[in-house]
Amino acid sequence: MANVRVAVRVRPLSKRETKEGGKIIVEVDDKVAKVRNVKVSSRPESFGDTREKVVAFGFDYCYWSVNPEDPHYASQEVVFQDLGTEVLSGAAKGYNICLFAYGQTGSGKTYTMLGTPVSISTDFLEIYNERVRDLLKRSNQNKSYGLRVREHPELGPYVQGLSQHVVTNYQQVLRLLEEGIANRITAATHVHEASSRSHAIFTIHYTQAVLQNNLPSETASKINLVDLAGSERADPSYCKDRITEGANINKSLVTLGIVISALAQNSQVFSSCQSLSSAASSGGDSGVPSTTSGTSSGGGPVRRQSYIPYRDSVLTWLLKESLGGNSRTIMVATVSPAHTSYSETMSTLRYASSAKNIINKPQVNEDANV
Ligand code: ADP
Repeated sequence: MANVRVAVRVRPLSKRETKEGGKIIVEVDDKVAKVRNVKVSSRPESFGDTREKVVAFGFDYCYWSVNPEDPHYASQEVVFQDLGTEVLSGAAKGYNICLFAYGQTGSGKTYTMLGTPVSISTDFLEIYNERVRDLLKRSNQNKSYGLRVREHPELGPYVQGLSQHVVTNYQQVLRLLEEGIANRITAATHVHEASSRSHAIFTIHYTQAVLQNNLPSETASKINLVDLAGSERADPSYCKDRITEGANINKSLVTLGIVISALAQNSQVFSSCQSLSSAASSGGDSGVPSTTSGTSSGGGPVRRQSYIPYRDSVLTWLLKESLGGNSRTIMVATVSPAHTSYSETMSTLRYASSAKNIINKPQVNEDANV
């Protein structure tokens, strides 16, 4: 059993934030991320107000990547040393690994993912509006979002017809990643918008020959690097303004929130602490929708196991084995340090806090038939 490991990374102030006089309201102290609500504390009438103005969240790793001059500055190398090593050593041992980047658009998800590359054979897909396309297809056919998700009885969900690319070194992995990212962007009419509204999953299939009881055998593991749509889309009310794409646009992200929430509740059966979904959804700006099934409505000790609606969205279906299944999962929540992003930052940290409570059961995939 292994908890989902959760890291938070704070990026530098952007040029725009600096120009707008962005104040830094996020602070990192070892494994704790603190957020100051300047809106409350700067109001004159709040003088003497005893309400808490700083909220602290504990994580497995907190990275301060705001200013390279700072002695606590976490560069790509530092992040890679922790998370990349965890990803690689897990895969080398035969575990499936899933690394999510979650956060507001522009908070550093892609930047952090690119700092965590690995090797062997890869594929790269994009989910947009609940439809899947291949980001590495070279012929002109099948470049559209028409791929089908199916489920193998033993190997789990997969995308039919997704192209596979054998790689022998890190440079090739990086080239494929860059090619896929370029494809993501050129297909978009409104470049930044469309890529911030889609999810991209880069998968590395890692197979090794091993000797088991003196017999040759194989371990096959998967590493999923998941660049999620901007977390501002996790708010169900956001949909209302986006009629053009219909209700599907953030279905995957909302379902991911529900799945995380339900998994965390199921993992907390013995815990009497506040239920995850209510913690996550208290304070109106949370991005995590609450689950209704499985909570102890009467406050009694007995809790039903929540139903986990993996198949309600393409993203959660494809990542079923990584979430609450046979996988070691890491989530990196990326945040802006600026006061202008206060609500998004709080919502991201609450969402990430909830993911911390999920307990997975990773297993080594020996002799997997892939
Ligand atoms: P997202 O994928 O969350 O939309 P990006 O990864 O594209 O955000 O980051 C937005 C911008 O911020 C990019 O220009 C990126 O280079 C910069 N950036 C993000 N994180 C960092 C960081 N830790 N250090 C330096 N620049 C960063």
